[in-house]
Amino acid sequence: MAREYDLTPRPVPRIETPLRRIVTDFPVPESLPVLEALHRWEPQSMRGQPPVVWERAEGFQVYDAWGNRWIDWSSGVLITNAGHGRREIIEAITGQAHAQLLTNYCFPSRIRARLVERLAELSPEPLKKVFLLTTGSETVECAIKLCRTYGVKVGGRAKHVIVSFENAFHGRTLGAQQAGGIPALKEWIVNLDPGFVQVPFPDGFRTTDTSFDYFLECLDERGVEPANIAGVMLETYQGGNAAFAPRAYMQALREWCSGHDILLVLDEVQAGFGRTGTLWGFEHYGIVPDLVCWGKGISSSLPISAIVGRPDVMDLHPPGSMTSTHTGNPVCCAAALASIELVIRENLAENARRMGELLHQRLQAMKLRFAEIGWVDGKGLVAAVMCVKPGTKEPDGDLAWDVVRRSIEKGVLMFSPVGLGGASIKICPPLVITEEAVLESTEAFEEAFAEAVAQRKGAAA
Ligand code: PMP
Repeated sequence: MAREYDLTPRPVPRIETPLRRIVTDFPVPESLPVLEALHRWEPQSMRGQPPVVWERAEGFQVYDAWGNRWIDWSSGVLITNAGHGRREIIEAITGQAHAQLLTNYCFPSRIRARLVERLAELSPEPLKKVFLLTTGSETVECAIKLCRTYGVKVGGRAKHVIVSFENAFHGRTLGAQQAGGIPALKEWIVNLDPGFVQVPFPDGFRTTDTSFDYFLECLDERGVEPANIAGVMLETYQGGNAAFAPRAYMQALREWCSGHDILLVLDEVQAGFGRTGTLWGFEHYGIVPDLVCWGKGISSSLPISAIVGRPDVMDLHPPGSMTSTHTGNPVCCAAALASIELVIRENLAENARRMGELLHQRLQAMKLRFAEIGWVDGKGLVAAVMCVKPGTKEPDGDLAWDVVRRSIEKGVLMFSPVGLGGASIKICPPLVITEEAVLESTEAFEEAFAEAVAQRKGAAA
């Protein structure tokens, strides 16, 4: 299923609007040495990225070095919640760099204290202890470690199973991939730990039974009892297709976990910091989990992540035993503090909610127009358009690939995640996007979709 872009430059229609500018062939001939160097020196696993060589990015727009300008629907990969290249974040980063403290592990710093305090302040009870890490995967690994430690402590060694969901993506490290629910991604592990069990995610599309009873039935079928479960972990929305679980399901899950002393972990690596139209994604469910994983949009820039949780759980490991070299790197902390202040001060969660409404209206209208759109999901400024063979639920990754390519050639940047046959087109612009840009980019996307479908029908005729 691996797809790669053709690197032979082709003429594409020129575009010039106040927001988008395409003035070269595509890929840009002058960019080929960069793309070729990446092909030569990086593993092929890094291929498949659209061949747009970023030079500069600002707000919701991305520029290359050859005069082209895109409306960005990727936010990097859901990183730049506060917008690309925000002056306040740049100043925080450079200010911290000029203060001549670039790293200080294993000693404390004032800025690390400020960031963990700020994150705890913004989190509801009982999420009051924060551990800073570098990547989303590390927060997931840490959550697994804490769940198992907790389970074994309260229920003995048998209480160690981590229940997660089919099609989930939690990262690419060993534990995170075992918690993930995409079989192809973990074939390499060979001896999968039987203490990781997945059940269907109640997305309403592939899993039509979205009742909590079905969750219990599936556990039963897999021979797992509550007394064996240390934690249940899920993405607040599934990253691949932006699917949320029903609110009633999540409330029942919360209650069931509490009743059986099972930790509930929400992976908000994508859903945090305003993305879904509320500051935290779990607010949509009216619940508070025991542990939350954050990454990506926490800083809108430099690599930093955090796990926040119940103090009794976060304190399970003794001093010096749950640490990481780059924890609380001062420059990354400065970036995170600045980004969080922008998200709060500019009420970007509210902008995500309002712009998301407009985006989702436009996408729902497209769904009515195209039988090739099986499903549109998401909330706020995350959406996924699932391409299918008309009249079926069969993913059509080739169509998604073609639509993404055509959209990029029209000046709108986006990507389709791994999993689901590459058939889900993800839409996740920076939360500072404007109404004008939402309207213009959805129009370009619809044109691209129509062209891809027409070409396919023409080829079949
Ligand atoms: N969890 C989720 C929901 C993610 O989307 C990702 C990354 N796409 C991760 C975890 C892993 O984060 P990272 O790539 O920073 O390790």
